[in-house]
Amino acid sequence: MEVQWNFRFGLVILGDSAVGKSSFLRRYTEGTFEESNQSPLGIDFKVQHLSFEPDITIKLLLWDTAGQERFRSISKSYMRNSVGCILLFDLTQRQTFERVRAWHREVLEYVQPAVMVFTLVGHKSDLVVRRQVRRTEAEALAKELDMGAYVEVSSKDDVNVSQAFETVSRAIYQKF
Ligand code: GDP
Repeated sequence: MEVQWNFRFGLVILGDSAVGKSSFLRRYTEGTFEESNQSPLGIDFKVQHLSFEPDITIKLLLWDTAGQERFRSISKSYMRNSVGCILLFDLTQRQTFERVRAWHREVLEYVQPAVMVFTLVGHKSDLVVRRQVRRTEAEALAKELDMGAYVEVSSKDDVNVSQAFETVSRAIYQKF
């Protein structure tokens, strides 16, 4: 049966290859995790409903860019249909954190800063002993880039996955 919804948003999930974009999306939409993932070839698309309060249901249109990290190949319409961006880096791979600025800049080549709500996700927080990025520096970067929030997430252990989606969705809802 079709779920009744009052608002509909597009969200895009970005970040370097292997930061865990597909795993994050799969955990959120299917509630599962696989240790070794085959990146999808095309852009994966999922729909998920989210309720803040009994009378507010948001239909999220979620776009995964795994397998298309060469960002310029992603169509403009796909970016322009999104009002939220969840930007992931891998807490255990410092170079993926160093690329956050570039991802952010590239998104803003397609959409106006006023349109897009960003959330920064430090991913794979279960791998604590391998951490290469401190929470404070990630928080500072999120602030500097005017991203609404920074969240540390483990799709493997299901920590903060739905919170990340809820944070960005609430920020969008409050904005419009
Ligand atoms: P993508 O290329 O960004 O879509 O990344 P994938 O979702 O394919 O994940 C890349 C690798 O990281 C896979 O081996 C996943 O099992 C692993 N991975 C994803 N999320 C997590 C996590 O939260 N914790 C751990 N330990 N590994 C993860």
